[in-house]
Amino acid sequence: MNWDDTTDTGAADAERLVGAVADREDQAVEAALRPKDLGEFIGQEKVREQLDLVLRAARARGATADHVLLSGAPGLGKTTLSMIIAAEMGAPIRITSGPAIQHAGDLAAILSSLQEGEVLFLDEIHRMSRPAEEMLYMAMEDFRVDVIVGKGPGATAIPLELPPFTLVGATTRAGLLPPPLRDRFGFTAHMEFYEPRELERVVHRSANLLDVEIEPAGAAEIAGRSRGTPRIANRLLRRVRDYAQVKADGLINREIAHAALAVYEVDERGLDRLDRAVLEALLKLFGGGPVGLSTLAVAVGEERETVEEVAEPFLVREGLLARTPRGRVATPAAWAHLGLTAPRGAAGGTGQQDLFGT
Ligand code: ADP
Repeated sequence: MNWDDTTDTGAADAERLVGAVADREDQAVEAALRPKDLGEFIGQEKVREQLDLVLRAARARGATADHVLLSGAPGLGKTTLSMIIAAEMGAPIRITSGPAIQHAGDLAAILSSLQEGEVLFLDEIHRMSRPAEEMLYMAMEDFRVDVIVGKGPGATAIPLELPPFTLVGATTRAGLLPPPLRDRFGFTAHMEFYEPRELERVVHRSANLLDVEIEPAGAAEIAGRSRGTPRIANRLLRRVRDYAQVKADGLINREIAHAALAVYEVDERGLDRLDRAVLEALLKLFGGGPVGLSTLAVAVGEERETVEEVAEPFLVREGLLARTPRGRVATPAAWAHLGLTAPRGAAGGTGQQDLFGT
């Protein structure tokens, strides 16, 4: 996989302990933690059940599986599922990403070297160049590409037959895909954030593989702060393991997990220092808002994009912050989370209940 093509905000996210984008350490250890078949894959019941049917049917027909589109936030298991699809089909897998394919020729080179039945995993498929995307339409539908030879009026298209293959496309936002591309996938799955119960199972499974001793209450403590994301759960587990080794006898129980995550400044809802800085500024400096994004960003000393793309989505998802036409507004839960009392008339306080219908 091309790991160097993260966007600027993607890079900012990858530096955080609670960022969902893979950092270098994740890349090094994730291979050992990935579930190898559908039975080992935790949660996402509907996706698993549907995918199981698609793959069984293809196997029974002796055919290549339909193209699969996986959408969902980073760290929810899209790469893992693509590897499971290949394993379940007994097929090899090739891994690449949209930003790595800037020219149609790059894609033609990959497609023409695929083996029959091979799985091609295309991460961040929405970031592919237009000409490559158009070449992909034909490849997906007819297993054929037109390779353009020469330039200008003398250019000719040479048709090239491809072996049947399965494309597994991954995107953080299916809505960004042009409909003609979306329509060419036989099966589309949306991956949801995980429930704490499911993340506890992820933590136990990973602890087992990493040979780390953990009590159920320790796993629950980590799961609750993992923002619904297995990648974050695995990362927090590794940091808590470090703490348990240095400060105790290696066993992770509730107290150790609690103390370790306090050191790393990840609070009980999974907010980190940046998230809390944004909330605190909103509440303490602007009385809960509404305040413009740029003003809020200056107040916390961050780029506007960092606040908007790195901190806000999780705060909105958690119901702590609302984006309104007049600016950013804290919800009643935000005051409660920081242990503050909203002044009368403050947004999110008792005087503005109509804003949230509470
Ligand atoms: P994505 O491709 O969506 O960014 P990955 O497939 O790379 O996410 O998953 C990140 C990590 O989280 C993997 O190393 C894997 O160990 C773990 N993981 C993801 N989904 C699951 C799951 N359902 N069960 C267990 N572990 C999972």
